[in-house]
Amino acid sequence: MSDCLFCKIIKGEIPSTKVYEDETVYAFKDIAPIAPVHILIIPKEHISKLEDVNETNSAVISHIFEVAAKIAKDMGLTNGYRVVSNCGEDAGQTVFHIHFHLLAGRKLGWEEQ
Ligand code: 5GP
Ligand code: ZN
Repeated sequence: MSDCLFCKIIKGEIPSTKVYEDETVYAFKDIAPIAPVHILIIPKEHISKLEDVNETNSAVISHIFEVAAKIAKDMGLTNGYRVVSNCGEDAGQTVFHIHFHLLAGRKLGWEEQ
């Protein structure tokens, strides 16, 4: 998607701080972190949101959870972390390229990302 912010980040057209990359997944630091560790993990394939996940594209979503576990291990997040994806307006989704927030580094309340 040529007008998608995160597709542009994947292509390197918009700079980002890379944390992890492989053939199907890209992970980078959130520009406005709400926790000491705030990483966004995204598929390279453009999927708009969680409700668009289906049997033809879900393999990359399960891979994202493998990547989240690897990043957490590599960063030594032994005290715990949260992975969350906001889907749609009520959840506060602002970028419509599916992404998973990996949050850590402080005690996380429930009514937040
Ligand atoms: P959402 O609100 O859709 O769940 O999350 C979108 C996230 O993308 C937000 O946490 C926001 O800070 C982050 N974000 C928005 N624009 C950029 C950007 O240009 N670069 C980076 N690294 N993060 C961004
Ligand atoms: Zn996109």
